[in-house]
Amino acid sequence: MKKTILATGKSKTIYTTDDPNLLVMEFRDDATAFNGVKKASLARKGKVNNHFNAHVMQLLAAENIAVHFVKLLSETESLVKKLDMIRIEFVVRNVVAGGISKRLGIEEGMVLPEPTLELFLKDDALGDPMINESHVHVFNWAKDEEIAELKQRTLRINTILKAFFAKAGLTLVDFKLEFGRADGKLLLGDEFTLDGCRVWDTKTQKKFDKDRFRRDLGEVIESYEEAAERLGIDVL
Ligand code: ADP
Ligand code: UDP
Repeated sequence: MKKTILATGKSKTIYTTDDPNLLVMEFRDDATAFNGVKKASLARKGKVNNHFNAHVMQLLAAENIAVHFVKLLSETESLVKKLDMIRIEFVVRNVVAGGISKRLGIEEGMVLPEPTLELFLKDDALGDPMINESHVHVFNWAKDEEIAELKQRTLRINTILKAFFAKAGLTLVDFKLEFGRADGKLLLGDEFTLDGCRVWDTKTQKKFDKDRFRRDLGEVIESYEEAAERLGIDVL
């Protein structure tokens, strides 16, 4: 089914298929942080992320969120709809951590009175700079109506996923989404895994996400597996 490599990213490889509208997304064991400066290979990561992503995408689809995910193909591969990707990262935060803490000098852990939404330009060479809607408009990175729709959708996804994590005693601190266009429709693309969000134990504040890798906290994939088990996601 796989034909040629369409793109090799930092943690996934995308292949074309016989069907021009479908792609194979392969989750590799590669881990990167700080815009690719820190790198490692973590055993089982590809498999865990592939299954975690499939579960979350299916959960969102069941809530009528349009997603690119079609089906699991193997331990590390999923079939997805080919998207014309929008070069914007949509970051939602429920609790202060990471980038916003450094940028604004606010201590990690502050619970926000309501979620914030930030936009970043997806550009590794520039280090994914923060942008605003006026930039999106003047540089035509997306249409005004698309941004309006995607902002709403991102916040709805936050409501759904916050509840999903809360049921397992986990706090969804923040996360990043990417969207794209197919057949004139906007679909959630890329992935939702513990590589692209922050998840803390609500009581103990233990971290279950990529900060374990960024900050050398150890037991990275063991923690991903523990979070998956608590959430009822079969990753083994
Ligand atoms: P990155 O190095 O950009 O983080 P990844 O390793 O995550 O990349 O590789 C995935 C790449 O594929 C990203 O550039 C992402 O925007 C892109 N992508 C994700 N979903 C789709 C899709 N459905 N169609 C086309 N491209 C996609
Ligand atoms: N994020 C991501 N990819 C990026 C940038 C951010 O998946 O290129 C995720 C990150 O894992 C976190 C959230 O978006 O869950 C907010 O990230 P932040 O701005 O705090 O930056 P970081 O700490 O990753 O530098």
